[in-house]
Amino acid sequence: MTDKEQMSLFDLTPSEVPLVELPHADVSESAPTAKKTARSSKNNTPAPAVAVPVHEQFASLDALREAACNCQKCPLAPTRTNVVVERGDRSAKILIIGEAPGEQEDLSGLPFVGKSGQLLDKILESVGFDTNKDIYVCNTVKCRPPNNRVPTEIETTTCKPYLLEQIRLVDPKIILLTGATSLKSILGEKLGITKVRGKWYEWEGRLVMPIFHPSYLLRNQSREQGSPKWLTWQDVKAIKAKYLEIIGADSVVDDDEEF
Ligand code: URA
Repeated sequence: MTDKEQMSLFDLTPSEVPLVELPHADVSESAPTAKKTARSSKNNTPAPAVAVPVHEQFASLDALREAACNCQKCPLAPTRTNVVVERGDRSAKILIIGEAPGEQEDLSGLPFVGKSGQLLDKILESVGFDTNKDIYVCNTVKCRPPNNRVPTEIETTTCKPYLLEQIRLVDPKIILLTGATSLKSILGEKLGITKVRGKWYEWEGRLVMPIFHPSYLLRNQSREQGSPKWLTWQDVKAIKAKYLEIIGADSVVDDDEEF
């Protein structure tokens, strides 16, 4: 399958798109260290994230899920239908962090199952990932904010211990931050998603890449070179290449065979 055909797989309305390989930040050359990450945003390194409440360590993801499902710690608890903790492979090498559950997620109890989630699945499928098998999916906050508003600082901070524990227990090699809220929660508040998307960062010994949120891509359907969708296509190919490097597979042969 050609690049163009692969690209069309992650679009809800496939059409023509020019594809050119973008230069990508090489991890070894440009990824800031965890130390730099906590220092400054001037040289494109993240500012420190807000202080997180002291939290317990969970013995397992089941224990975490049970605690989260009974959680009443923030103002989102009374209005939720379900607590939305996770979906996918609990031992995946790639963990994706979204913003917050929307209506479909609140009703089903699963993250990224509405329109944004369907597009996220298509994006990942286009390079051969199955979100339910190869990837662990979660959100910055586990309960739906009313009317899908952006979660407040209190909500993200209160929920952060669950997120940090999910990361510790899944122990992924790669973390993808979809959109500004998860970017802020993990790498700090001074970064703009358009500037940092597609770049690799090192955070707590893991590789982190911010990418556009799929809901932003749904609002920006162009696939022109340089458009958000086109850029995401470059990002997802870089992510696949890095993943294959990490697991020691031959990227070119695998992609050609898979598609
Ligand atoms: N948007 C998100 O960020 N997360 C979801 O689970 C659904 C939509």
